[in-house]
Amino acid sequence: LSAPDRTAGIVVVGASLAGLRGAEALRRGGYDGPLTLIGDEPYRPYDRPPLSKHVLSGEVGADRTELPATTALKAQWRLGHPAVALDRGTRSIRLASGEVIPFEKLLIATGARARPWPVTEGPTPEGVFCLRSRDDAAALRCALARKPRRILIVGAGLIGCEAASCCHALGLAVTLVDPHETPLSRALGGLIGQVVAERAEQAGVDFRGGVRVVGLEQDGAGRLKAARLSDGAIVEADVLIAALGATRDVSWLAGADLMADAGGVTCDAVCRVLLAIGEPSRDIYAAGDVARWPNAIFDGEHMAIEHWGNAVDQAAHAARNMLASEDRQAPYVHLPAFWSSQFGVNIKFVGSAEGADEVAVARGSLRSHRFLAVYGKAGRTVAAVSFDEARWLPAYAEKIMAGEAFPPISGGADLSATAPSAPNFPQRRAEPRPMNPVSAHG
Ligand SMILES: Cc1cc2nc3c(=O)[nH]c(=O)nc-3n(C[C@H](O)[C@H](O)[C@H](O)COP(=O)(O)OP(=O)(O)OC[C@H]3O[C@@H](n4cnc5c(N)ncnc54)[C@H](O)[C@@H]3O)c2cc1C
Repeated sequence: LSAPDRTAGIVVVGASLAGLRGAEALRRGGYDGPLTLIGDEPYRPYDRPPLSKHVLSGEVGADRTELPATTALKAQWRLGHPAVALDRGTRSIRLASGEVIPFEKLLIATGARARPWPVTEGPTPEGVFCLRSRDDAAALRCALARKPRRILIVGAGLIGCEAASCCHALGLAVTLVDPHETPLSRALGGLIGQVVAERAEQAGVDFRGGVRVVGLEQDGAGRLKAARLSDGAIVEADVLIAALGATRDVSWLAGADLMADAGGVTCDAVCRVLLAIGEPSRDIYAAGDVARWPNAIFDGEHMAIEHWGNAVDQAAHAARNMLASEDRQAPYVHLPAFWSSQFGVNIKFVGSAEGADEVAVARGSLRSHRFLAVYGKAGRTVAAVSFDEARWLPAYAEKIMAGEAFPPISGGADLSATAPSAPNFPQRRAEPRPMNPVSAHG
Protein backbone atom coordinates (compact mmCIF):
# COMPACT_ATOMS: atom_id res chain seq x y z
CA LEU A 1 0.00 0.00 0.00
CA SER A 2 1.13 3.53 -0.70
CA ALA A 3 1.41 5.92 2.26
CA PRO A 4 -1.83 7.80 2.92
CA ASP A 5 -1.95 11.01 0.89
CA ARG A 6 -3.04 13.63 3.43
CA THR A 7 -3.95 16.03 0.63
CA ALA A 8 -6.30 13.51 -0.97
CA GLY A 9 -8.86 13.84 1.80
CA ILE A 10 -12.00 11.82 2.29
CA VAL A 11 -13.96 10.36 -0.60
CA VAL A 12 -17.55 9.13 -0.33
CA VAL A 13 -18.78 6.79 -3.08
CA GLY A 14 -22.57 6.80 -3.36
CA ALA A 15 -24.19 10.25 -3.24
CA SER A 16 -27.53 9.40 -1.71
CA LEU A 17 -28.92 9.29 1.83
CA ALA A 18 -26.00 7.54 3.57
CA GLY A 19 -23.39 9.37 1.48
CA LEU A 20 -24.87 12.78 2.25
CA ARG A 21 -25.47 12.19 5.94
CA GLY A 22 -21.99 10.66 6.30
CA ALA A 23 -20.39 13.67 4.60
CA GLU A 24 -22.35 16.05 6.82
CA ALA A 25 -21.26 14.18 9.94
CA LEU A 26 -17.63 14.49 8.82
CA ARG A 27 -17.98 18.26 8.62
CA ARG A 28 -19.89 18.45 11.89
CA GLY A 29 -17.16 16.33 13.47
CA GLY A 30 -14.63 19.01 12.59
CA TYR A 31 -13.15 17.57 9.40
CA ASP A 32 -12.16 20.51 7.18
CA GLY A 33 -10.01 18.77 4.58
CA PRO A 34 -10.91 17.90 0.97
CA LEU A 35 -14.19 16.02 0.63
CA THR A 36 -15.44 14.43 -2.59
CA LEU A 37 -18.81 12.79 -3.21
CA ILE A 38 -19.07 10.44 -6.18
CA GLY A 39 -22.49 9.39 -7.47
CA ASP A 40 -23.54 7.53 -10.57
CA GLU A 41 -26.90 9.30 -10.70
CA PRO A 42 -26.86 12.82 -12.17
CA TYR A 43 -28.79 14.27 -9.21
CA ARG A 44 -27.97 15.74 -5.81
CA PRO A 45 -28.99 13.30 -3.03
CA TYR A 46 -32.73 12.71 -2.95
CA ASP A 47 -35.14 10.77 -0.77
CA ARG A 48 -36.43 7.37 -1.89
CA PRO A 49 -39.38 6.66 0.47
CA PRO A 50 -41.65 9.22 -1.28
CA LEU A 51 -41.01 7.50 -4.63
CA SER A 52 -43.39 4.62 -3.86
CA LYS A 53 -45.87 6.91 -2.08
CA HIS A 54 -46.34 10.61 -2.92
CA VAL A 55 -44.48 10.54 -6.24
CA LEU A 56 -46.52 7.60 -7.60
CA SER A 57 -49.72 9.21 -6.44
CA GLY A 58 -48.74 12.38 -8.30
CA GLU A 59 -48.78 14.58 -5.17
CA VAL A 60 -45.06 15.34 -5.48
CA GLY A 61 -42.92 15.43 -8.62
CA ALA A 62 -39.94 13.05 -8.71
CA ASP A 63 -37.75 16.15 -9.07
CA ARG A 64 -39.06 17.54 -5.75
CA THR A 65 -37.52 14.83 -3.56
CA GLU A 66 -34.09 16.38 -2.99
CA LEU A 67 -32.82 15.76 0.55
CA PRO A 68 -32.39 18.92 2.60
CA ALA A 69 -28.80 19.73 3.55
CA THR A 70 -28.23 19.96 7.29
CA THR A 71 -24.65 21.30 7.12
CA ALA A 72 -22.60 23.28 4.60
CA LEU A 73 -20.55 20.56 2.90
CA LYS A 74 -17.97 22.48 0.87
CA ALA A 75 -17.51 19.31 -1.16
CA GLN A 76 -16.43 18.40 -4.67
CA TRP A 77 -19.29 16.59 -6.38
CA ARG A 78 -18.75 14.04 -9.14
CA LEU A 79 -22.36 13.32 -10.11
CA GLY A 80 -23.26 11.13 -13.06
CA HIS A 81 -19.90 9.37 -12.70
CA PRO A 82 -20.03 5.72 -11.63
CA ALA A 83 -17.02 4.49 -9.67
CA VAL A 84 -15.77 1.43 -11.56
CA ALA A 85 -12.76 0.33 -9.52
CA LEU A 86 -11.17 0.65 -6.12
CA ASP A 87 -7.39 0.32 -6.01
CA ARG A 88 -6.35 -0.15 -2.39
CA GLY A 89 -2.70 -0.23 -3.37
CA THR A 90 -2.69 3.34 -4.65
CA ARG A 91 -5.65 4.39 -2.46
CA SER A 92 -7.66 5.61 -5.39
CA ILE A 93 -11.03 5.27 -7.11
CA ARG A 94 -11.36 5.06 -10.88
CA LEU A 95 -14.48 6.54 -12.46
CA ALA A 96 -16.11 5.32 -15.68
CA SER A 97 -14.79 8.50 -17.31
CA GLY A 98 -11.23 7.32 -16.63
CA GLU A 99 -10.64 9.97 -13.96
CA VAL A 100 -8.72 8.67 -10.95
CA ILE A 101 -9.56 10.13 -7.54
CA PRO A 102 -7.13 9.51 -4.68
CA PHE A 103 -8.34 9.18 -1.12
CA GLU A 104 -6.88 9.17 2.33
CA LYS A 105 -10.05 7.62 3.73
CA LEU A 106 -13.05 6.21 1.90
CA LEU A 107 -16.72 5.77 2.83
CA ILE A 108 -18.58 3.24 0.67
CA ALA A 109 -22.28 4.17 0.54
CA THR A 110 -23.38 2.63 -2.74
CA GLY A 111 -26.66 1.26 -1.42
CA ALA A 112 -28.63 -1.29 -3.38
CA ARG A 113 -30.28 -1.62 -6.76
CA ALA A 114 -33.68 -2.97 -7.72
CA ARG A 115 -33.46 -6.61 -8.70
CA PRO A 116 -34.18 -6.38 -12.44
CA TRP A 117 -36.96 -8.21 -14.20
CA PRO A 118 -35.50 -11.63 -15.00
CA VAL A 119 -35.50 -11.79 -18.78
CA THR A 120 -36.56 -15.31 -19.61
CA GLU A 121 -37.78 -15.09 -23.18
CA GLY A 122 -36.71 -12.43 -25.65
CA PRO A 123 -36.66 -8.68 -25.03
CA THR A 124 -38.60 -7.26 -22.09
CA PRO A 125 -41.82 -5.65 -23.38
CA GLU A 126 -42.49 -1.94 -23.05
CA GLY A 127 -44.51 -1.32 -19.90
CA VAL A 128 -42.25 -3.19 -17.44
CA PHE A 129 -40.91 -0.93 -14.67
CA CYS A 130 -38.92 -1.22 -11.48
CA LEU A 131 -38.91 1.29 -8.63
CA ARG A 132 -35.67 2.32 -6.99
CA SER A 133 -34.53 5.61 -8.45
CA ARG A 134 -36.00 9.01 -9.16
CA ASP A 135 -35.91 8.22 -12.90
CA ASP A 136 -37.74 4.90 -12.31
CA ALA A 137 -40.46 6.71 -10.35
CA ALA A 138 -40.80 9.49 -12.95
CA ALA A 139 -41.15 6.96 -15.79
CA LEU A 140 -43.67 4.89 -13.86
CA ARG A 141 -45.65 7.96 -12.87
CA CYS A 142 -45.92 8.93 -16.58
CA ALA A 143 -47.21 5.45 -17.40
CA LEU A 144 -49.81 5.65 -14.59
CA ALA A 145 -50.97 9.07 -15.77
CA ARG A 146 -51.88 7.43 -19.12
CA LYS A 147 -54.53 5.41 -17.19
CA PRO A 148 -53.46 1.85 -17.97
CA ARG A 149 -56.24 -0.76 -18.03
CA ARG A 150 -54.57 -2.90 -15.34
CA ILE A 151 -51.33 -2.82 -13.42
CA LEU A 152 -49.67 -6.06 -12.46
CA ILE A 153 -47.34 -5.75 -9.48
CA VAL A 154 -44.95 -8.63 -9.04
CA GLY A 155 -43.67 -8.94 -5.48
CA ALA A 156 -45.75 -8.08 -2.42
CA GLY A 157 -42.95 -6.74 -0.23
CA LEU A 158 -43.01 -3.22 1.16
CA ILE A 159 -42.49 -1.44 -2.14
CA GLY A 160 -44.89 -3.70 -4.06
CA CYS A 161 -47.62 -3.22 -1.45
CA GLU A 162 -47.13 0.54 -1.28
CA ALA A 163 -47.23 0.76 -5.08
CA ALA A 164 -50.41 -1.38 -5.13
CA SER A 165 -52.02 0.85 -2.54
CA CYS A 166 -51.08 4.02 -4.47
CA CYS A 167 -52.21 2.69 -7.85
CA HIS A 168 -55.50 1.57 -6.35
CA ALA A 169 -56.01 4.98 -4.75
CA LEU A 170 -55.56 6.48 -8.23
CA GLY A 171 -58.57 4.47 -9.35
CA LEU A 172 -56.51 1.99 -11.37
CA ALA A 173 -57.18 -1.75 -11.49
CA VAL A 174 -54.38 -3.65 -9.71
CA THR A 175 -53.32 -7.28 -9.51
CA LEU A 176 -50.63 -8.04 -6.93
CA VAL A 177 -48.87 -11.40 -7.09
CA ASP A 178 -46.30 -13.00 -4.81
CA PRO A 179 -44.77 -16.47 -4.56
CA HIS A 180 -45.67 -16.52 -0.85
CA GLU A 181 -49.23 -16.99 0.37
CA THR A 182 -49.54 -13.48 1.86
CA PRO A 183 -48.05 -10.03 1.27
CA LEU A 184 -45.11 -8.95 3.46
CA SER A 185 -44.44 -12.60 4.32
CA ARG A 186 -40.71 -12.18 4.60
CA ALA A 187 -40.91 -9.02 6.71
CA LEU A 188 -43.83 -9.89 8.99
CA GLY A 189 -44.62 -13.61 8.52
CA GLY A 190 -47.77 -15.16 7.08
CA LEU A 191 -49.95 -14.65 10.17
CA ILE A 192 -49.64 -10.84 10.10
CA GLY A 193 -49.29 -10.89 6.30
CA GLN A 194 -52.83 -12.29 6.14
CA VAL A 195 -54.09 -8.99 7.59
CA VAL A 196 -52.35 -7.14 4.75
CA ALA A 197 -53.94 -9.54 2.24
CA GLU A 198 -57.36 -8.77 3.73
CA ARG A 199 -56.73 -5.02 3.62
CA ALA A 200 -55.62 -5.24 0.00
CA GLU A 201 -58.59 -7.36 -1.01
CA GLN A 202 -61.09 -5.20 0.88
CA ALA A 203 -59.66 -2.20 -0.94
CA GLY A 204 -60.35 -3.95 -4.24
CA VAL A 205 -56.83 -5.09 -5.13
CA ASP A 206 -56.73 -8.52 -6.76
CA PHE A 207 -54.11 -10.27 -4.57
CA ARG A 208 -52.87 -13.67 -5.72
CA GLY A 209 -50.57 -15.45 -3.30
CA GLY A 210 -48.48 -18.54 -3.96
CA VAL A 211 -48.00 -17.83 -7.66
CA ARG A 212 -45.19 -16.62 -9.91
CA VAL A 213 -45.15 -14.96 -13.29
CA VAL A 214 -43.84 -17.53 -15.76
CA GLY A 215 -44.06 -15.53 -18.99
CA LEU A 216 -45.10 -12.24 -20.55
CA GLU A 217 -47.07 -11.62 -23.73
CA GLN A 218 -46.69 -8.53 -25.88
CA ASP A 219 -48.54 -6.97 -28.77
CA GLY A 220 -47.12 -6.41 -32.26
CA ALA A 221 -45.56 -3.11 -31.14
CA GLY A 222 -43.64 -4.77 -28.31
CA ARG A 223 -45.94 -3.46 -25.57
CA LEU A 224 -46.92 -5.60 -22.59
CA LYS A 225 -50.28 -7.28 -23.11
CA ALA A 226 -50.57 -10.00 -20.47
CA ALA A 227 -48.68 -12.18 -18.00
CA ARG A 228 -48.93 -15.93 -17.57
CA LEU A 229 -48.94 -17.13 -13.95
CA SER A 230 -47.65 -20.41 -12.57
CA ASP A 231 -51.23 -21.54 -11.74
CA GLY A 232 -52.17 -21.24 -15.42
CA ALA A 233 -54.03 -17.94 -15.07
CA ILE A 234 -53.52 -15.11 -17.55
CA VAL A 235 -53.58 -11.53 -16.24
CA GLU A 236 -54.14 -8.89 -18.90
CA ALA A 237 -52.11 -5.82 -17.96
CA ASP A 238 -50.35 -3.02 -19.78
CA VAL A 239 -48.06 -1.99 -16.92
CA LEU A 240 -45.97 -4.36 -14.80
CA ILE A 241 -44.08 -3.18 -11.73
CA ALA A 242 -41.26 -5.56 -10.81
CA ALA A 243 -40.94 -5.17 -7.03
CA LEU A 244 -38.54 -8.04 -6.57
CA GLY A 245 -36.35 -6.65 -3.82
CA ALA A 246 -32.88 -5.18 -4.00
CA THR A 247 -29.38 -6.41 -4.51
CA ARG A 248 -26.02 -4.79 -3.75
CA ASP A 249 -23.96 -4.09 -6.80
CA VAL A 250 -20.43 -4.67 -5.61
CA SER A 251 -18.97 -5.45 -9.03
CA TRP A 252 -17.04 -2.17 -8.92
CA LEU A 253 -15.13 -3.56 -5.93
CA ALA A 254 -13.86 -6.59 -7.86
CA GLY A 255 -10.13 -6.96 -7.44
CA ALA A 256 -10.05 -4.87 -4.24
CA ASP A 257 -9.90 -8.02 -2.07
CA LEU A 258 -12.72 -7.03 0.21
CA MET A 259 -15.32 -9.27 1.80
CA ALA A 260 -18.37 -8.40 -0.25
CA ASP A 261 -21.07 -10.09 -2.27
CA ALA A 262 -24.64 -9.46 -3.42
CA GLY A 263 -25.68 -9.43 0.25
CA GLY A 264 -23.43 -6.49 1.16
CA VAL A 265 -19.95 -5.31 2.04
CA THR A 266 -18.95 -6.95 5.30
CA CYS A 267 -17.73 -4.63 8.04
CA ASP A 268 -16.51 -5.01 11.60
CA ALA A 269 -18.45 -3.58 14.53
CA VAL A 270 -17.06 -0.06 13.99
CA CYS A 271 -18.05 -0.06 10.26
CA ARG A 272 -14.55 -0.68 8.86
CA VAL A 273 -14.72 -2.85 5.74
CA LEU A 274 -13.18 -6.29 6.15
CA LEU A 275 -10.44 -7.32 3.77
CA ALA A 276 -10.62 -10.75 2.13
CA ILE A 277 -8.12 -12.02 4.71
CA GLY A 278 -10.66 -11.18 7.42
CA GLU A 279 -8.90 -8.16 8.90
CA PRO A 280 -10.44 -4.68 8.95
CA SER A 281 -9.17 -2.02 6.61
CA ARG A 282 -7.83 1.01 8.46
CA ASP A 283 -9.14 3.58 6.02
CA ILE A 284 -12.21 2.14 4.25
CA TYR A 285 -15.63 2.23 5.91
CA ALA A 286 -19.13 1.40 4.69
CA ALA A 287 -22.63 2.50 5.71
CA GLY A 288 -26.26 2.28 4.66
CA ASP A 289 -27.97 -0.39 2.58
CA VAL A 290 -24.64 -1.70 1.27
CA ALA A 291 -23.08 -2.40 4.68
CA ARG A 292 -23.37 -5.67 6.59
CA TRP A 293 -22.09 -5.54 10.13
CA PRO A 294 -22.34 -7.45 13.41
CA ASN A 295 -25.18 -5.88 15.40
CA ALA A 296 -24.62 -6.27 19.15
CA ILE A 297 -28.36 -6.05 19.86
CA PHE A 298 -28.77 -9.39 18.12
CA ASP A 299 -25.73 -11.19 19.56
CA GLY A 300 -23.44 -9.88 16.84
CA GLU A 301 -25.50 -11.33 14.00
CA HIS A 302 -24.34 -9.86 10.66
CA MET A 303 -27.10 -7.64 9.31
CA ALA A 304 -27.52 -5.52 6.19
CA ILE A 305 -30.51 -3.27 6.81
CA GLU A 306 -32.38 -1.62 3.96
CA HIS A 307 -34.10 1.08 5.98
CA TRP A 308 -33.90 4.85 5.91
CA GLY A 309 -33.14 5.25 9.62
CA ASN A 310 -30.20 2.88 9.44
CA ALA A 311 -28.67 4.72 6.48
CA VAL A 312 -28.80 7.98 8.44
CA ASP A 313 -27.51 6.60 11.75
CA GLN A 314 -24.85 4.28 10.37
CA ALA A 315 -23.41 6.89 8.03
CA ALA A 316 -23.09 9.42 10.85
CA HIS A 317 -21.59 6.77 13.10
CA ALA A 318 -19.09 5.57 10.49
CA ALA A 319 -18.08 9.19 9.83
CA ARG A 320 -17.39 9.81 13.52
CA ASN A 321 -15.26 6.67 13.63
CA MET A 322 -13.38 7.78 10.52
CA LEU A 323 -12.30 10.88 12.41
CA ALA A 324 -11.45 9.08 15.66
CA SER A 325 -8.21 7.39 16.64
CA GLU A 326 -8.36 3.59 16.51
CA ASP A 327 -8.84 3.13 20.26
CA ARG A 328 -11.74 5.60 20.37
CA GLN A 329 -13.85 4.09 17.60
CA ALA A 330 -17.20 2.91 18.95
CA PRO A 331 -19.20 -0.11 17.78
CA TYR A 332 -22.30 0.69 15.77
CA VAL A 333 -25.40 -0.67 17.48
CA HIS A 334 -28.76 -0.17 15.81
CA LEU A 335 -32.34 -1.23 16.39
CA PRO A 336 -33.81 -1.70 12.90
CA ALA A 337 -37.09 0.11 12.27
CA PHE A 338 -39.30 0.91 9.31
CA TRP A 339 -42.66 2.44 8.62
CA SER A 340 -45.09 2.05 5.76
CA SER A 341 -48.47 3.45 4.77
CA GLN A 342 -50.64 1.21 2.67
CA PHE A 343 -54.32 0.40 2.20
CA GLY A 344 -55.24 3.03 4.80
CA VAL A 345 -53.06 1.51 7.54
CA ASN A 346 -49.99 2.98 9.17
CA ILE A 347 -47.53 0.16 9.81
CA LYS A 348 -44.57 0.64 12.15
CA PHE A 349 -42.00 -2.02 12.85
CA VAL A 350 -39.02 -2.30 15.20
CA GLY A 351 -36.46 -5.07 15.64
CA SER A 352 -35.60 -8.04 13.48
CA ALA A 353 -38.16 -10.80 13.02
CA GLU A 354 -35.67 -12.94 11.07
CA GLY A 355 -35.97 -16.46 12.41
CA ALA A 356 -38.76 -15.56 14.90
CA ASP A 357 -40.61 -18.66 16.10
CA GLU A 358 -43.62 -17.10 17.84
CA VAL A 359 -45.82 -14.06 17.67
CA ALA A 360 -48.46 -12.74 20.08
CA VAL A 361 -50.94 -9.92 19.68
CA ALA A 362 -50.31 -7.61 22.64
CA ARG A 363 -53.01 -5.05 21.98
CA GLY A 364 -56.01 -4.86 19.68
CA SER A 365 -56.86 -7.76 17.40
CA LEU A 366 -55.92 -9.10 13.99
CA ARG A 367 -59.63 -9.21 13.15
CA SER A 368 -59.99 -5.45 13.66
CA HIS A 369 -56.81 -4.80 11.62
CA ARG A 370 -55.70 -2.54 14.46
CA PHE A 371 -53.14 -4.13 16.75
CA LEU A 372 -49.66 -4.40 18.12
CA ALA A 373 -47.97 -7.78 17.71
CA VAL A 374 -44.74 -8.97 19.28
CA TYR A 375 -42.29 -11.55 17.92
CA GLY A 376 -40.21 -13.97 19.95
CA LYS A 377 -37.19 -16.02 18.99
CA ALA A 378 -35.87 -18.75 21.27
CA GLY A 379 -37.67 -17.14 24.21
CA ARG A 380 -36.46 -13.60 23.56
CA THR A 381 -38.44 -10.57 22.33
CA VAL A 382 -36.92 -9.66 18.95
CA ALA A 383 -39.44 -7.49 17.08
CA ALA A 384 -42.79 -5.73 17.27
CA VAL A 385 -45.15 -4.38 14.65
CA SER A 386 -48.09 -2.03 14.97
CA PHE A 387 -51.01 -1.49 12.61
CA ASP A 388 -52.50 1.91 13.57
CA GLU A 389 -51.62 1.07 17.17
CA ALA A 390 -48.14 2.40 17.94
CA ARG A 391 -48.61 3.59 21.53
CA TRP A 392 -46.68 0.74 23.12
CA LEU A 393 -44.12 0.36 20.36
CA PRO A 394 -41.40 2.40 22.13
CA ALA A 395 -41.74 0.18 25.20
CA TYR A 396 -41.16 -2.87 23.04
CA ALA A 397 -38.22 -1.20 21.33
CA GLU A 398 -36.60 -0.92 24.77
CA LYS A 399 -37.44 -4.53 25.56
CA ILE A 400 -35.81 -5.69 22.33
CA MET A 401 -32.70 -3.58 22.94
CA ALA A 402 -32.40 -4.97 26.44
CA GLY A 403 -32.69 -8.56 25.14
CA GLU A 404 -35.68 -9.22 27.40
CA ALA A 405 -37.72 -12.38 27.37
CA PHE A 406 -40.80 -13.15 25.33
CA PRO A 407 -43.82 -13.04 25.96
CA PRO A 408 -44.87 -9.43 25.91
CA ILE A 409 -45.52 -6.88 28.64
CA SER A 410 -48.83 -7.59 30.36
CA GLY A 411 -51.03 -6.18 33.09
CA GLY A 412 -51.84 -2.74 31.65
CA ALA A 413 -55.50 -1.76 31.33
CA ASP A 414 -55.17 -1.67 27.56
CA LEU A 415 -52.97 -4.74 27.16
CA SER A 416 -54.35 -8.23 26.71
CA ALA A 417 -51.83 -10.52 25.09
CA THR A 418 -53.11 -13.48 23.09
CA ALA A 419 -51.44 -16.87 23.38
CA PRO A 420 -48.42 -16.98 21.07
CA SER A 421 -48.84 -18.51 17.60
CA ALA A 422 -46.41 -19.48 14.87
CA PRO A 423 -45.60 -16.36 12.82
CA ASN A 424 -45.44 -18.48 9.62
CA PHE A 425 -42.34 -17.08 8.04
CA PRO A 426 -41.52 -18.59 4.65
CA GLN A 427 -38.49 -20.83 4.38
CA ARG A 428 -35.41 -18.68 3.92
CA ARG A 429 -34.05 -18.43 0.39
CA ALA A 430 -30.43 -19.43 0.07
CA GLU A 431 -28.65 -16.14 0.79
CA PRO A 432 -25.14 -15.37 -0.37
CA ARG A 433 -22.59 -16.59 2.15
CA PRO A 434 -21.96 -13.76 4.62
CA MET A 435 -18.29 -13.23 4.09
CA ASN A 436 -17.17 -13.92 0.54
CA PRO A 437 -14.29 -12.11 -1.09
CA VAL A 438 -15.88 -10.11 -3.89
CA SER A 439 -16.02 -11.70 -7.31
CA ALA A 440 -16.33 -10.06 -10.69
CA HIS A 441 -20.11 -10.49 -10.61
CA GLY A 442 -20.61 -9.68 -6.97
C1 LIG B 1 -39.18 3.15 -3.48
C2 LIG B 1 -38.55 3.03 -2.12
C3 LIG B 1 -39.30 3.29 -0.97
C4 LIG B 1 -38.71 3.17 0.28
N1 LIG B 1 -39.48 3.41 1.39
C5 LIG B 1 -38.93 3.31 2.63
C6 LIG B 1 -39.69 3.55 3.79
O1 LIG B 1 -40.89 3.86 3.71
N2 LIG B 1 -39.08 3.42 5.01
C7 LIG B 1 -37.75 3.07 5.12
O2 LIG B 1 -37.24 2.94 6.25
N3 LIG B 1 -37.00 2.84 4.03
C8 LIG B 1 -37.55 2.95 2.79
N4 LIG B 1 -36.79 2.72 1.67
C9 LIG B 1 -35.37 2.35 1.84
C10 LIG B 1 -34.45 3.56 1.95
O3 LIG B 1 -34.76 4.51 0.95
C11 LIG B 1 -33.01 3.09 1.84
O4 LIG B 1 -32.74 2.32 2.98
C12 LIG B 1 -32.02 4.24 1.69
O5 LIG B 1 -32.21 4.91 0.48
C13 LIG B 1 -30.58 3.71 1.76
O6 LIG B 1 -29.69 4.75 1.53
P1 LIG B 1 -28.22 4.47 0.96
O7 LIG B 1 -27.62 5.82 0.76
O8 LIG B 1 -27.54 3.47 1.79
O9 LIG B 1 -28.44 3.74 -0.45
P2 LIG B 1 -29.14 4.27 -1.77
O10 LIG B 1 -30.24 5.19 -1.45
O11 LIG B 1 -29.40 3.05 -2.60
O12 LIG B 1 -28.01 5.13 -2.47
C14 LIG B 1 -26.83 4.62 -3.03
C15 LIG B 1 -26.37 5.55 -4.11
O13 LIG B 1 -25.13 5.09 -4.62
C16 LIG B 1 -25.16 5.10 -6.03
N5 LIG B 1 -24.17 4.14 -6.55
C17 LIG B 1 -24.25 2.80 -6.59
N6 LIG B 1 -23.14 2.26 -7.15
C18 LIG B 1 -22.34 3.31 -7.45
C19 LIG B 1 -21.05 3.41 -8.04
N7 LIG B 1 -20.35 2.34 -8.42
N8 LIG B 1 -20.52 4.65 -8.23
C20 LIG B 1 -21.19 5.77 -7.83
N9 LIG B 1 -22.42 5.72 -7.27
C21 LIG B 1 -22.98 4.51 -7.06
C22 LIG B 1 -26.59 4.71 -6.33
O14 LIG B 1 -26.98 5.00 -7.65
C23 LIG B 1 -27.32 5.55 -5.30
O15 LIG B 1 -27.52 6.87 -5.76
C24 LIG B 1 -37.35 2.81 0.40
C25 LIG B 1 -36.59 2.55 -0.75
C26 LIG B 1 -37.19 2.66 -2.00
C27 LIG B 1 -36.36 2.36 -3.24
